[in-house]
Amino acid sequence: MQINEQASLKHLNTFGFDVKARYLISPHSIAEAQEALEWARQHNRNVIVLGEGSNVVLTKDVDGVVVHPVFSNCQLVSEDADFFYVEVAAGMNWHECVQYTLNQQYWGLENLSLIPGLVGAAPIQNIGAYGIELCDFFHELSALEITTGQSHIFTNADCDFSYRESIFKNKLKDQFLITSVTFKLLKKPQLKLEYAGIQTELDAMGVQASPLTVGQAICNIRNRKLPNPKQLGNAGSFFKNPVIDVEQYEQLKIKYPEIVAYDADNAKKIAAGWLIEKAGWKGKHLGSVAVHDKQALVLVNSDGKGSGEAIIELAAHIKQSVFNQFGITLEQEPRVY
Ligand code: FAD
Ligand code: NAP
Repeated sequence: MQINEQASLKHLNTFGFDVKARYLISPHSIAEAQEALEWARQHNRNVIVLGEGSNVVLTKDVDGVVVHPVFSNCQLVSEDADFFYVEVAAGMNWHECVQYTLNQQYWGLENLSLIPGLVGAAPIQNIGAYGIELCDFFHELSALEITTGQSHIFTNADCDFSYRESIFKNKLKDQFLITSVTFKLLKKPQLKLEYAGIQTELDAMGVQASPLTVGQAICNIRNRKLPNPKQLGNAGSFFKNPVIDVEQYEQLKIKYPEIVAYDADNAKKIAAGWLIEKAGWKGKHLGSVAVHDKQALVLVNSDGKGSGEAIIELAAHIKQSVFNQFGITLEQEPRVY
């Protein structure tokens, strides 16, 4: 097991902030991950698990042990009449995992194509896009308890999944290192095409809807709409879409008839991007950081010289101005360190 001291995390966060980890360990196996946790325990150091850093804001050097799993095998573990059960190691890139399953004709993850990050991070915020969430195809996960190194299994119910949430962001925050995720994937495709843009893209591609073409359509849309973190540092959507009660929504609708909202369990989910754009933030700069000019929900490290602190300052201004104008409190999505 290699321990790198004062290691740069510039390539382990998609904002590209140039901060350091006191220690960085990249385990190649579960045994090495256990060894890394044991080492941190013996040296009385905090552990932070990092995947690709596509949902974090690093505001300062990390004075602890960053563990970045790089083990990435996957295997079909069982099947029944309707499902394939596929176990994928934490260090596999998420999109490669989606492509692998689609190539094997294990269906379900197509709408989650091209989400950055590693498989081990996907349950943390129950990743979602285009009407599908991880929990729709999640069977169970394996994880090591950080303080003991002991292995645990969490079923779907154990994880307490909800909209961009899981038990690992709440009650069990920072307590487990996820080592693998087992998916429950369909033998017969069930396509989900309701989100605006999917059918239009399929029509433009001149193809019938199938899991493979839907996956490709989503990649095309995402490539057009979202900044590639390799070219423009960002962490995807910076705020969650707020859910408000119907009464508040009706009041807002009188003032803003064009407000973008969707039904959500006797409430209304408002497009946070619309609120931010309406509040005048789209394309605005604050020094080296900015609100993306095509998608107001994405904050960017616009000239590569920005910092986590500057992003947090920009986010605070946006939150305040959205609250002042609409009476809605935005909740930040990425984790701040
Ligand atoms: P990191 O950012 O490294 O970590 C995120 C959190 O998970 C941290 O708290 C970390 O400690 C924890 N963590 C990471 N790995 C483990 C592990 N093995 N065990 C325990 N804890 C762990 N998200 C969506 O939901 N839907 C989208 O459509 C989407 N689109 C995006 C588009 C862009 C351009 C970008 C930059 C981000 C997008 N995201 C999206 C956010 C992000 O890609 C996901 O949240 C992703 O799952 C994060 O993976 P990661 O490996 O980068 O995790
Ligand atoms: P979009 O298509 O412009 O839509 C704006 C918002 O409206 C989305 O956030 C989405 O909510 C909601 N929405 C759109 N159609 C909907 C429908 N038919 N039913 C219910 N809600 C609907 O959004 P976008 O920014 O280009 O993103 C497309 C998808 O990728 C979304 O699902 C989004 O969550 C996901 N995405 C996530 C991140 C991230 O970092 N978390 C980054 C990029 C994209 P939901 O967000 O609840 O789906």
